[in-house]
Amino acid sequence: FSAVIASVVFLYFVIHEYTPPNIALIWALSVIVAYLPRLILTMIFNSRLRNHKINPNNIKPWERYFFLCSILPFICFTAVIYLPYQQGEDIGILVGSFIIMCITAGSILTYSTSKITSMLFLNISAFSIIIRAFLVHEFLFTMLGLVVCVGYFLLMKLMLDLNKTLIENISLKIEHKNYSLKDPLTRLWNRRHLYLYIEQLIPVSNRSGDQFSIIILDIDHFKKYNDTHGHLEGDELLIKVAKQLVNCSRQQDLIVRYGGEEFLLVLPATNIEQAKVIAERIISAVNKNTNVTVSAGLTVYTGKSGFNELVEQADKALYAAKKAGRNRFIVAENNGIGVLHRGR
Ligand code: GH3
Ligand code: MG
Ligand code: MG
Repeated sequence: FSAVIASVVFLYFVIHEYTPPNIALIWALSVIVAYLPRLILTMIFNSRLRNHKINPNNIKPWERYFFLCSILPFICFTAVIYLPYQQGEDIGILVGSFIIMCITAGSILTYSTSKITSMLFLNISAFSIIIRAFLVHEFLFTMLGLVVCVGYFLLMKLMLDLNKTLIENISLKIEHKNYSLKDPLTRLWNRRHLYLYIEQLIPVSNRSGDQFSIIILDIDHFKKYNDTHGHLEGDELLIKVAKQLVNCSRQQDLIVRYGGEEFLLVLPATNIEQAKVIAERIISAVNKNTNVTVSAGLTVYTGKSGFNELVEQADKALYAAKKAGRNRFIVAENNGIGVLHRGR
């Protein structure tokens, strides 16, 4: 946003020379006002990302919002080409065109992961300059229009090449990350990722005062299932259970294959009542959609204990759920006196 303000102020002083001052002012204000929704969106996005309310692996919807919030401000920005220039009209148009082309090239570099956005920026700005240049009906401006036409194709090629390289790099990075931090069978996160994630989540939770909950789940009588159906079918079942976990949790929840047939869910900004709803949903879904049942232990982080203690508490609750007959969850609540177990 500061870059936008700087460009607008700079352009304002340039065009102020060639247009009536009130027109220059209206133009500058309209750009800044049109950029406000985008600024607010950026602030919301950053704050959610910091508080783990956005899954960094699924930001497609946000890309769409950013795209929509970028169209209007960019049109307002490019309108500088169409301002009614009075004295020194030629220089006004030339300076405006040059700056717009530079900013477009810059935007393309910044937005190059989104082909559509870059394309839109390029088309709005290049066509504005070309049309305006031809409208002047002067040899030099017609030449400028033709040069921008050539520049348009060069920039388009640059953008497509850059986009391809960037996407390839990002895919490689994601592939590498998935290889080292994901479980190859269920495609869920592994323990290594869990600890990296928790290292970030605990300070955020301490600062914001937001509680987070964890759920540990273990498949009931899985040994028996393996013995009757075979190990391969056992593996298939693990994949099916993992799918139920994904379907029943929210986008911001972290799902980890914690052990052989044990899963751990971290639910950021979630109190124990909300965690119970999710545990209930998972247990019912596994019961309904697979040939096994699961038991679960729940606990909430209140800033008083470390993560290992938290897992220990949830584990104890899970053990209690098994003892109480399986296919249920139990909540471990550390109320300062000791661990208190409550039934489903
Ligand atoms: P409980 O209800 O008490 O949990 O009974 P259980 O039979 O599930 O007991 P336990 O948790 O001790 O058994 C775990 C079994 O899970 C043992 C092992 O054969 C099986 N298992 C662990 N990892 C895998 C895996 O990757 N694939 C398959 N097919 N089986 C696995
Ligand atoms: Mg087990
Ligand atoms: Mg088990």
